[in-house]
Amino acid sequence: MADAILRLEGVSKRYAGVVALDGVSFVVERGTITSLIGPNGSGKSTLIDCISGFQLHDGGRWWVGGAELSGRPPWDIVRAGMSRTFQTVRVYGPLTVRENLALAMHAHRVPAWHTNLLATGFMRRFAAKAQQRAAEIGQRIGLDRMLDSPAATLSYGQQKLVALGCALIATPQLIVLDEPLAGVNPTLCLQIGELLSSLRAEGLTTLLVEHNMDFVMRMSDR
Ligand code: ADP
Ligand code: MG
Repeated sequence: MADAILRLEGVSKRYAGVVALDGVSFVVERGTITSLIGPNGSGKSTLIDCISGFQLHDGGRWWVGGAELSGRPPWDIVRAGMSRTFQTVRVYGPLTVRENLALAMHAHRVPAWHTNLLATGFMRRFAAKAQQRAAEIGQRIGLDRMLDSPAATLSYGQQKLVALGCALIATPQLIVLDEPLAGVNPTLCLQIGELLSSLRAEGLTTLLVEHNMDFVMRMSDR
């Protein structure tokens, strides 16, 4: 088997009487864009929620790189190199794009609380690094001119780009995107496609859930 960055074995989840996931097994090979498709209600978001630690699963196991992450909390999973976005946009509206991105960097690599309290050199360097990464990613997602605008003033599609930027900020190995094009205008859809292609060329792996089948067929290795 080629190098699997993500491997799932028998992942299961039920909500009361509803069997949302019934023994899901697959692999995502490193460096690919791999798409997961299915009708509404087939369990795609539930799968992402389980493997990213946002929902408790009922059975099965999964690994990122070589590391087993079954049942681990979101912060462990993100530090193991897997970031995700949500089907509906989640950004902090009153904060600027720059602040949203820098905050995501902090969420990914939280130094011990007392280094923050004491404003240690480590903490100051970390904050400077977060600002630098926020500017880099702002440029990468094509929002460099909006870095100081409150996120709430951006279009829905641009807010989704900010959320994608937050997922990219701590240089993950694998990003899991839940319907990145839903509610996004055609121009931004093209921009997202170009971004995902260029990230793949740099070695990033993407697990993509998306209903836009033209996009899925055009972008996917598998
Ligand atoms: P998809 O993302 O493929 O549209 P979902 O994972 O959102 O599918 O939903 C899969 C099934 O699980 C659906 O029947 C849905 O109603 C149910 N479901 C999803 N989330 C919850 C929840 N938090 N509580 C109860 N049922 C849920
Ligand atoms: Mg969904």
